[in-house]
Amino acid sequence: MSSPKQKKQEIFPQLRQDPISKTWVVITPKRRARPEEFDQSRIVKRKIVAKKEDCPFCEGNEAKFGNPTSLLEYPRKGGKWSVRVIPNKYPAFLKNQKSKVKSQKLYISQPAIGSHEVIITYHHEDHTPKQPLWLVDKMLRAYQERILNLKKDQKIKYVHIFVNEGDEAGASIGHPHSQLVALTLIPEMIQKELDGVEQYYKRFKKCIFCDIIKREQDQKERVILENKNFITIAPYFSRFPFEMWILPKEHQTSYEEMDETRRRSLAEILKYSLLKLDKGLGEPAYNHFIHTSPVNVKSQQYHWHVEIFPRIDIWAGVELGIGVVFNTMVPKVAAEFLRKVKI
Ligand SMILES: [Zn+2]
Ligand SMILES: [Zn+2]
Ligand SMILES: [Zn+2]
Repeated sequence: MSSPKQKKQEIFPQLRQDPISKTWVVITPKRRARPEEFDQSRIVKRKIVAKKEDCPFCEGNEAKFGNPTSLLEYPRKGGKWSVRVIPNKYPAFLKNQKSKVKSQKLYISQPAIGSHEVIITYHHEDHTPKQPLWLVDKMLRAYQERILNLKKDQKIKYVHIFVNEGDEAGASIGHPHSQLVALTLIPEMIQKELDGVEQYYKRFKKCIFCDIIKREQDQKERVILENKNFITIAPYFSRFPFEMWILPKEHQTSYEEMDETRRRSLAEILKYSLLKLDKGLGEPAYNHFIHTSPVNVKSQQYHWHVEIFPRIDIWAGVELGIGVVFNTMVPKVAAEFLRKVKI
């Protein structure tokens, strides 16, 4: 490991490999890679959401839009609920189907068993960066409760929780909400990360995520935010401009195992990391999601984390054709810029 003093001027474009998933990224800043020279005109501000009367997720509209019974609801002073979990109206995964893998000579198929749910916070317009900490914490607690509930079904192998914010990130309803899909398989990207973790462990007898955290804490240049239990970094191998990862500082394999104190700490760092994005970049569209351990499989080494992708650049022929990603923003420059955004 090189110390900051020994650092040489880096030359771009530069190929960097994600040591976990093994994805190759080309860091290719258009000019001298200064944050103020980043072309912010490319950023589309997230649209204002539809009127409350037309919103299927607003409190009071439950019956009007034929919303099904809640899977989980937390009460709220002065209202009905603060967080509500419902089945997705157009689910991609269904419960209670017969599981039978059909394998012909060429094609394999099976019924899409699992669950597809929506986690809604009560306020019509206020997204995570504007929400009070108690509400962000309740949302994070709902994620935990749903994972704990869904994993009672031995068929479920992975629970994915994600947020699409803004049109460019694939949001179809503007009211703040997260989604959850529970699957009967371990998705390819998670498997790649699990393999990366295992390979590193075999070689160094250490967790690769813990080592990344240590390295970033030593160097400091890619650290964006830090609190008692979590750290937000711009990964060295960022695929998107201003990509952020939030990691628990202590090694922990599964998101749902987090205790209350740490969950409150996560609520805080998630809120303020997203607030920095909104303030610094003018409310861009973004996706964020949790990567955590599979469930109902033999225990494996993993270190859960949150990945945040501002959707500023569109993936095109290179990304889609060969899986090599072009990123026009140098991660340490992005980190420096976001660190300086006042919140
Ligand atoms: Zn609404
Ligand atoms: Zn770890
Ligand atoms: Zn990940």
